[in-house]
Amino acid sequence: MEKHRLNSQNQLMSSSLKREYLTNHLAKNLFIGLCAALPVTLALPVAALQVQVNPAKPRLGDTLSVLINLDNPNNGMTPEVSVGNKNYPAYKIAPKKYRALIPTTPLEKSGNRVIKVAAEGQSKNLAVTLSNRKFPVQRINLPPGKSGSRATEYELNRVAEFKTLLTPQKYWNGKFLRPNKGRISTIYGVRRYYNGKFANDYYHRGLDYAGASGSRVIAPAAGKVALVGTVSQGFRVHGNTVGIDHGQGVISIFLHLNRINVKEGDFVKAGQLIGTVGSTGASTGPHLHWGLYVHGESVDPTPWKTQKWE
Ligand SMILES: [Zn+2]
Repeated sequence: MEKHRLNSQNQLMSSSLKREYLTNHLAKNLFIGLCAALPVTLALPVAALQVQVNPAKPRLGDTLSVLINLDNPNNGMTPEVSVGNKNYPAYKIAPKKYRALIPTTPLEKSGNRVIKVAAEGQSKNLAVTLSNRKFPVQRINLPPGKSGSRATEYELNRVAEFKTLLTPQKYWNGKFLRPNKGRISTIYGVRRYYNGKFANDYYHRGLDYAGASGSRVIAPAAGKVALVGTVSQGFRVHGNTVGIDHGQGVISIFLHLNRINVKEGDFVKAGQLIGTVGSTGASTGPHLHWGLYVHGESVDPTPWKTQKWE
């Protein structure tokens, strides 16, 4: 369907280009004939809609940042950003500048994406190539009849609700900090086989830090504590959990904590203590799991630590 639409667009484009070329060619000959070497200044229309996508060469798991510059932002219209039939909110980040974030995950197919931006009565299609990435693979063998502990409805609902948060304010500023001093023991995106069968929907949705039990867990960026869940309340798999809403669809979740130092509704600064590393919930040893979500999808936190995200 998508392919067909693109093909017919190309056909339209090429035939209109051909016509334009012929017209220009005729006009040029006529023009040269009329006045030989007269310098001419052409009044070009002002480019009102400028769009840039970062990073320039994205890979699966990267967050795409779509930066939009408008000439006349005063008409109050917010640009519309979409990929296929999915829309992504754009937020004003400077007087004439907007930004939308698009998550990508290891579950997607690599290849071309068309990002459509519409604003001020104009629209622009940007082609982006999302390249593949080799994610490490783990083979997990479970004895028959033993599938580990099951999550409760309660924790699944609380976490799912937290992931849908879309707060218009932007609380974070600049690069994200590492939330724990331990080394990274499991990177983002690791895929799994269970008893020889590839788990199609599974990928490691975050980074694991092998911090010692009781070591400090800090907020990687400012935000509002929007989720606190404990084992005693029914967070059987997640363990003691803290969720921070960084705003504009960007949220962090911290699992398997020992202590929790914040409560729901608290505002935290980047670097503020939120809890300590533990092994609560479905965890085989003390570690911190940090998941970073953009519009409900788990993205690789790594680029958020190394670059400044507007
Ligand atoms: Zn993990």
